[in-house]
Amino acid sequence: MPHVTYPGFPRIGRRRELKRALESHWKNELDRDGLLAVARDLRRQHWALAREAGADSVPVNDFSLYDHVLDAAVLVDAIPARYRGLYERDPLAGYFAMARGHQDATVDVHALEMTKWFDTNYHYIVPELVAGQTFRARPAKVVDEFREAVAAGHAARPVLIGPITFLRLAKTVDGSDPLALLDGLLPAWLDVLDALADAGADWVQVDEPALVLDLDDATRDAYRHAYARIAERSRVRILLATYFGGPGDDVALLASLPVAGFHVDLVRGEDDLSALLEALPDDAIVSAGILDGRNVWLSAPDKVLPRIEALRDRLGDERLWLSTSCSLLHVPIDVAGEKRLRGGVGEWLSFARQKIEELRRYADAANGAADARASLAAQQAVVDARLASPDVVRPHVRARVRGLTPQFAQRRSAFGFRKVVQRERFGLPDLPTTTIGSFPQTPDLRNARAAHRAGRLDDASYADVLREEVRRAVRFQEEAGIDVLVHGEPERNDMVEYFAEQLDGYAFTSLGWVQSYGSRCVKAPIIYGDVARPAPMTVAWSAYAQSLTERPMKGMLTGPVTMLQWSFVRDDLPRADVCRQIALALRDEVHDLEKAGIGIVQIDEPALREGMPLRRHAWAAYLDWAVDAFRITAGGVSDATQVHTHMCYSEFNDIMDAVAAMDADVISIETSRSRMELLEAFTTFRYPNGIGPGVYDIHSPRVPAEAEMADLVARALQVLAPDQLWINPDCGLKTRGWPEVRDALTGMVAVARAARERLTAAG
Ligand code: GLN
Ligand code: ZN
Repeated sequence: MPHVTYPGFPRIGRRRELKRALESHWKNELDRDGLLAVARDLRRQHWALAREAGADSVPVNDFSLYDHVLDAAVLVDAIPARYRGLYERDPLAGYFAMARGHQDATVDVHALEMTKWFDTNYHYIVPELVAGQTFRARPAKVVDEFREAVAAGHAARPVLIGPITFLRLAKTVDGSDPLALLDGLLPAWLDVLDALADAGADWVQVDEPALVLDLDDATRDAYRHAYARIAERSRVRILLATYFGGPGDDVALLASLPVAGFHVDLVRGEDDLSALLEALPDDAIVSAGILDGRNVWLSAPDKVLPRIEALRDRLGDERLWLSTSCSLLHVPIDVAGEKRLRGGVGEWLSFARQKIEELRRYADAANGAADARASLAAQQAVVDARLASPDVVRPHVRARVRGLTPQFAQRRSAFGFRKVVQRERFGLPDLPTTTIGSFPQTPDLRNARAAHRAGRLDDASYADVLREEVRRAVRFQEEAGIDVLVHGEPERNDMVEYFAEQLDGYAFTSLGWVQSYGSRCVKAPIIYGDVARPAPMTVAWSAYAQSLTERPMKGMLTGPVTMLQWSFVRDDLPRADVCRQIALALRDEVHDLEKAGIGIVQIDEPALREGMPLRRHAWAAYLDWAVDAFRITAGGVSDATQVHTHMCYSEFNDIMDAVAAMDADVISIETSRSRMELLEAFTTFRYPNGIGPGVYDIHSPRVPAEAEMADLVARALQVLAPDQLWINPDCGLKTRGWPEVRDALTGMVAVARAARERLTAAG
């Protein structure tokens, strides 16, 4: 019978036990031993749960107190100098200092940089290296956790991030090539394998997801070189794991690496399967990632079982392992315990625990077990019912999407003409000022929302609180002299959930938390059916806010790509189609706002960049449908209606033409690294429409000096025209406090006015 396992498990705990323990530890309410006890307990529970669900073996060292990439850095002693003293005195404090920064009487260090783990919503700590640095093995964590699992009676397989992926994810402070450190790294890395062999490990899973990225020849050589050295020395069997895609053209490279087994992602890498089977050595174990570790749907046996049977025919029972495509880190833990799921969706879902149960069922069924075959038949009936449910397929939505023509994605006139009409309508000065949408979510506001959710505050009283917040935001913006106002979004706790809750086709879990980074978790909504908008969603708030002022009030929407990207998406329709459905629903909202007299509508797309496929050849197709969805949302409004968009969290320099193709009248934009980099893009790429590169960094509680903002405005004016430049912060203000926001925005308006005067004086 095929062996059942999985590449990794969520760490945070069913009830976010790890989050609570970490946060109390950081507040000095839980000591080191208390924290470590919670962690140990979670590991034990998770292994036991996986075994009960049917896994034959379990991964270890997939657990982390903060991040597995930070653990991989510590494993080889890649601890930057500024943390070292603290680390040597107190390893746990040093570890968290790297993750989150540390400030006390003697130490004041920033955290290491953090960025997204491939194309997931998980963020890892970027290892910071320096040319010529040395490495040495610190195998205690992985060895201890291995022993723990063995002592608990499990067949355990330590998981390590492979040396090439580790170096590809790292950055060097001196800009040198991290791969140049490979020969220094390998001896330390081999010492870790030795320590694991000494502890009795048989298999070690070495994760090399970088193998599914576009590789250059230097990286290919590095793979050959590293794995040849590992094969020479290591006394353990290596399971080389790739995921988040197939090896594509690098299938021969992958298959040539001298390891005992290969874990492959057969969900995203489905097309590579036959080439893989052709290329892999005859004695290698294949860990087939047959169920999607990135999504939450119960699989369809009529698709999966035949594939397993084909694999089994080809490989035989001894060489086939059944697994999920990638670590289960990216899905919630358990569907059991979910109650009020919309549309009967509960039955259709499969979280970490259910996925392992599914694998067991498939393995048993492949082996001929009658009860497993019967439960797969029952599972098939559930999947069929899902696909036929009237909540899932809504004929009017399907008809609308089928009826889309290129016309839908068009404004009536080109930007040059719209600009004239809009200037006439709004009479804004050059360098108009605005903000991104949200104003501070004060403790009072959060308390009122919690009370309302708990039923302690009735609808009418809660609405009073919200209206008062809107009045206060409007009053403040008028006093500060901002040109284009926002209502402040006090009614929204989350920019996706707020809309999802008002749309058909979305469901919500109560415990479906997935780790985003460290102790932070998100509960993404689930798109299970065709998306439709039963009623206007934001019109009443925007109209109310507009009624309080003569100045233009921006309507504020989350765009279709972001609504898609920050949700779990159904697997029975192409993402592009789901995105078009959302675009049409939002388009109706845009038109209703327009009808209600709202002249400016902002459609936020912060997630557009992060939806990009991992491989470059797939970028164009993605950007095509993503930009098209935005344009459908914004399409069809009058030339006098000004469409804004907002983007943040990433770099845009390499997709500037797609950003321009969105054809928003105005975009406000942030770059996470340096604002200079963004402006540089405009020296080579002439961005045609209105644009506001953020001049106030809202990610810091610091109030920016006026001189700093003035400097950014002056630099922006070197590459952008005065009649195209907007002055705004770089993101929403909801995480900030009122006092700093007041000062910063007052300063921002003063800077804009002074710059205008200079422009007038210069003629
Ligand atoms: N309009 C949203 C806000 O201001 C935008 C949030 C975002 O960019 N992530 O909060
Ligand atoms: Zn933003």
